[in-house]
Amino acid sequence: MTRPLEGRVAFVAGASRGIGATIAEALAGAGAAVAVAARSEVEGKLPGTIGAVAQRITDAGGRALPVRCDVTSEESVEDAVARTVAEFGGIDILVANAGVLWMGPVETTPLRRWQLCLDVNTTGVFLVTRAVIPHVRARGGGSLIAVTTTGVTMTDLGANAYWVSKAATERLYLGLANDLKADNIAVNCLSPSRVVLTEGWLVGGGGVEIPPEMIEPPEAMGAAAVLLAQQDAGGITGTIQRSEALAAE
Ligand code: NAP
Repeated sequence: MTRPLEGRVAFVAGASRGIGATIAEALAGAGAAVAVAARSEVEGKLPGTIGAVAQRITDAGGRALPVRCDVTSEESVEDAVARTVAEFGGIDILVANAGVLWMGPVETTPLRRWQLCLDVNTTGVFLVTRAVIPHVRARGGGSLIAVTTTGVTMTDLGANAYWVSKAATERLYLGLANDLKADNIAVNCLSPSRVVLTEGWLVGGGGVEIPPEMIEPPEAMGAAAVLLAQQDAGGITGTIQRSEALAAE
């Protein structure tokens, strides 16, 4: 098995379950040491903890560090990044995956839901990205990946807090790719091509029935993240990628 990320360090925000957990395990399988970052240290309403994901990685022969991180808190993010650098010596790869879903129509969206989407999906990406940039720059290059959604472009389906928050993140990352070109840092967005039936989707997806042909296995996002994680500014950068389309290229 090839290990293209041997010697690299990845910070995965939102890695206690779902797509983030799959990406963390895929990056570790490709050789990276992985900081498994999220809030859940003990089982709560939803299954999955940072400790359990880190344990799965170490059981499979990889390197992982569970780090508590609330992406909405500047202090928590700074602390998690500092702990990762102290343990692994630097950071080469960021996957800003932490996200919350709210697909309700604008008229019936409570202000706290609107704010939570922006706090986690937009400000959270800003905070983790800002915290890792100096460390990635210090390595002479690396790769930043924000997890977004195909819903951003589906304006014919209307508007909601979730799509708006992800649209802002795409704008953030597309511009940042330009800012960080001279630092040899690739900056891309990645989303599933179809729907991944994660815990978050099942709770927040509003009971929408997904036809079987629209269901994507979580491993597609893992493989796509491994590919994007290998990029620097000389490779794929400043793009919005879809997991299965990227694999097919
Ligand atoms: P999920 O099962 O709900 O997992 C979400 C992850 O985000 C968890 O690890 C959660 O960990 C973390 N998180 C939430 N709030 C956080 C906070 N304040 N600080 C740190 N971590 C936080 O969701 P998912 O379906 O895997 O989605 C992952 C990403 O993919 C999201 O950005 C989502 O928008 C995107 N996406 C998913 C789909 C899909 O089909 N599932 C489609 C398009 C895009 P804790 O609760 O432990 O903090």
